[in-house]
Order: sequence, then structure tokens, then C-alpha cells
Amino acid sequence: MSKTAPRATTTDAGIPVQSDEHSLTVGPDGPILLHDHYLIEQMAQFNRERVPERQPHAKGGGAFGRFEVTADVSAYTKAAVFQQDTTTELVIRFSTVAGEHGSPDTWRDPRGFAVKFYTTEGNYDMVGNNTPIFFIRDPMKFQHFIRSQKRRADNNLRDHDMQWDFWTLSPESAHQVAWLMGDRGIPRTWRHMNGYSSHTYMWINARGEKFWVKYHFITDQGIEFFTQHEADRMAAVDTDYHTRDLFEAIARGDYPSWTLKVQIMPFEEAKTYRFNPFDLTKVWPHADYPLIEVGRLTLDRNPTDYHSQIEQLAVAPSNLVPGIGPSPDRMLLGRMFAYPDAHRARIGTNYNQLPVNAPITPVHSYSKDGAMRYRTVSDPVYAPNSKGGPRADTERHGEPAGWHTDGEMVRTAYSLRAEDDDWRQAGTLVRDVLDDAARARLAGNIVGHLLHGVTEPVLQRAFEYWRNVDKKLGDRIEQGVRTQQSLIAGTTTH
Ligand code: NDP
Repeated sequence: MSKTAPRATTTDAGIPVQSDEHSLTVGPDGPILLHDHYLIEQMAQFNRERVPERQPHAKGGGAFGRFEVTADVSAYTKAAVFQQDTTTELVIRFSTVAGEHGSPDTWRDPRGFAVKFYTTEGNYDMVGNNTPIFFIRDPMKFQHFIRSQKRRADNNLRDHDMQWDFWTLSPESAHQVAWLMGDRGIPRTWRHMNGYSSHTYMWINARGEKFWVKYHFITDQGIEFFTQHEADRMAAVDTDYHTRDLFEAIARGDYPSWTLKVQIMPFEEAKTYRFNPFDLTKVWPHADYPLIEVGRLTLDRNPTDYHSQIEQLAVAPSNLVPGIGPSPDRMLLGRMFAYPDAHRARIGTNYNQLPVNAPITPVHSYSKDGAMRYRTVSDPVYAPNSKGGPRADTERHGEPAGWHTDGEMVRTAYSLRAEDDDWRQAGTLVRDVLDDAARARLAGNIVGHLLHGVTEPVLQRAFEYWRNVDKKLGDRIEQGVRTQQSLIAGTTTH
């Protein structure tokens, strides 16, 4: 803003206004006049300032930055964004999942890690999380899962009984719940956590060869977490702690960065791998598929208008550029519909025309009209046409980003492979990755969570659930809960 000449206030139509302070009245003490259109505009606009919050991932923050490719991965993908020495502008949004717009940043929850790359081939979006896995593997259960984490119908309260009821009846959740209840379930800041694609994607190189890929954005700041106690305290002191931390770090020039590494699985290996590599509840062990460096993501610019740049940011896993495709991961396939549909519902049909969502490349689609369209459309408005309208470049972009499939139409789980059980990887995390202190915190966090209103028989099922993950852990949790219950009962009877 200019420091010399203050700008004169105008209405939204650009008409100079007569006062920032006084409504138009009949004499100083008389009634307000309906034709004070500036007052009406201020009140009416204010009433419409909010767009519906996201369902889920309502609370979040974000920033702008760039992605620089530091290694040669052209053997795996021809995508321009991943060619060596390429720099691509981007925007990122971090979020919690279950809380509403004003909820504390430090609640235990997975964090969204959603990136929109403004590439020379159109927008490439990756809707990741700070966890490499998820609670479920079929989008049919997604809505139910989120409802179980949100609020009850009767008292409008969040309810641990409902959460554990769902989890213990959905054993595929065990790996993600073990992860969530551990240290990484409450990152110290968004800067101190990793981001993962979680989903498996397809990469296609210039020769048309296909690979399966998982992305790991490893924090260059190092992993740091809050204990439950620290997080509870912070939730009371500063609800927006993570939002503030990111904004202030960037404002002081302390730009956070992440190194992108990928795991690559040869296309054919997926058919015979010992477990289903497209199952979102499982990781690919590093020993089988080591991390390969790609480049660095750096955040160096804060938003100047949170609403238009972050709240209306619309990231969609359907935005895949040439050289990158989907995989048979059912959750990914579901989200490729659900995300753009959510954006159409909450922001509007033409959400892609908003500056933060618009690509840097020209748009030549045949989309037309709809509320709030401002990019003009010209004839012809249909294809095919003989009138000079845009034509798909099938030579260049006609690659099949797909896989062969055939079979009966069924409603059934993925076919099971030798190591497709729900407990094994959660058990590996508990036994082989966590040390004694981390295991003790994990058990303590679970006991604390279960003591918050979880009732029989859900409680009993929860003990079995953890015994299936790790017998010692399950026993320890049951003992911890029963001890606390008797202490509480003792306190109330005296
Ligand atoms: P590794 O020993 O090679 O990898 C273990 C990984 O666990 C580490 O690289 C680190 O991932 C992650 N990790 C460390 N501490 C924690 C924690 N407190 N909570 C969650 N994750 C942590 O073994 P595997 O690759 O065979 O995986 C073993 C288990 O590790 C898996 O069952 C899974 O639970 C977990 N894991 C595996 C990942 C993978 O992609 N293979 C990724 C993350 C977790 P990072 O380097 O990404 O920080």
C-alpha cells in the first residue's frame, strides 16, 4: 500500500463512498435509509463471507514455494515437472482432518499435505498426508469413517466410543491407528513432519515404459513431535500454533524445505509382489524399494489473502500431467472423483478459474457457462468441429496411463496375497521401529484415549485389536485401562 496518498474507499462497483463510519439517516437522530446501498453492500457481503468449510480437512494453512529437481529420474517419468534442473512454482496446504475450522492445530490427527504444482503441462496436484498409509482401503467406507471421527447426531460431541467402534470393526485401520497414536500423531509443527503421497501412482517415461511410484517428502528440518501433554497445553494456549509457526518462519526468511524421494516398483512386479502394493493401508518396505532422490520443495512466500489463496485453494488428485497416471488403488480412484466434486460443491463450478487454482498454461477446454464464470468462451462450443476449435493432441498425449484388467463386475475385497493381513505392518512398526520410550508413549496415548468414554463391548474389542497388532502391547493397554478404571472407581466411592 502506498504510504503517501491514501486510496479513496469505493463500493465493490468502484464508486467513491461518502463515509466509512456513518450510515445514511434522516437527520442525525432519524432512521437509516434502505437506499444506503453502500451500507447494504457491507452487510450483505459480510453475511456471505464464508464458504462452506471442507468436509474433512477444514482447519489448515498454507504457503507458496517452488520445487527444484536435483536428480535425473527421466528413466521413470517424462513429466516436465520432474525433469532435471526444472523449477516449478507451487502452493501447499497443511491441515488436520477431523476438526472444524477453528479447532486446535495440535489435536491428534493425521495432517494433510496437499501440493499444487503449476507445471508447463498444466496443474499437477498431489493430495498427500503426513502418514504413508490410511485407515481404510475402499472409498465405500470413507464417508462412514469420517463421520465416526466427527460429531454425534444427538449431542453434537466428538465421541471416542464411536471412533473405536469403527476402528475395531475395521481391522485394516490398525496400521494407521498405531501410527496415529504414536509420536508422529502430533507433529510439533508442519515444518517438522514428512509428507507422503500415500497412494501409489504410475510413472511413464518417454519410451512409454510404466512404473509404480510412491512419494516421500522428507522434512529437512527433522522430525519433531509434541507429547499428548504438550499438545493439550498448546491447544489451550494457542489454537493456531501450526498456522502461526509456518507463517512466522516464512516471514522471518526461515524457509522450510522437504527433499522428495520416491520408491519405484517395476510395473510387472506389482502382479506378483507378496502383498497388494496398491493397498493404502500398507507401506512398501524400504529394503524392497529404496528411496531415490528427485528434488527439493521449498516454501518461501506467505499468502496475503488467506481466503482467496488457501481457503479457496482446490487441490485434486485427478490433476495428473503427461508422464503421471493413477494406479489400481481404490481409494485414489475414489478420490479422483470426490475431490473435484467437493470443489464444485463448496467453491463453485468454475473454481479452476480462480487465480490460485488456474494453471500457468493456456486453457482450451470446452467447458462453458456456470455461476461466476469470468473467462470468456468463444465458438465453436462443441467437438468435433470443422470451425477451428481445439483438438486433442493424441500423438503427444494419447499414452495409455492405465493397466490391463478384465473380469466379472463384483462387490468384493481385493484378492488376498500371501502377506495381505491387517496386523503385520502395524506390528512391525510397534516392535521394530519404535524404541522402548516411544512404545511406552504409544501405550500411554492409547490408554488415555480409551479412557475417554469408550464403553463395553467396544473396549474389549480394542484390547483384542491391539493384541492382534502386538500381544505385549495389547496386554499392557488392557492393564493400563483397568488400573486407571479402578483408581477412578476408588476415587468416586470415597
Ligand atoms: P525401515 O526400518 O526401513 O523404515 C522405518 C521407517 O519408519 C523410518 O524410515 C521412518 O520413516 C519411520 N518411522 C520412524 N519412527 C517412526 C514413528 N515413531 N512413527 C511412524 N514411523 C516412524 O522399515 P520398513 O520400510 O520395512 O517399514 C517398517 C515400518 O515402518 C512400516 O511397517 C511402517 O509402519 C513404518 N514406516 C515405513 C515407511 C515406508 O515407506 N517403508 C514410511 C514410514 C513409516 P521416514 O524415513 O519416512 O521418516
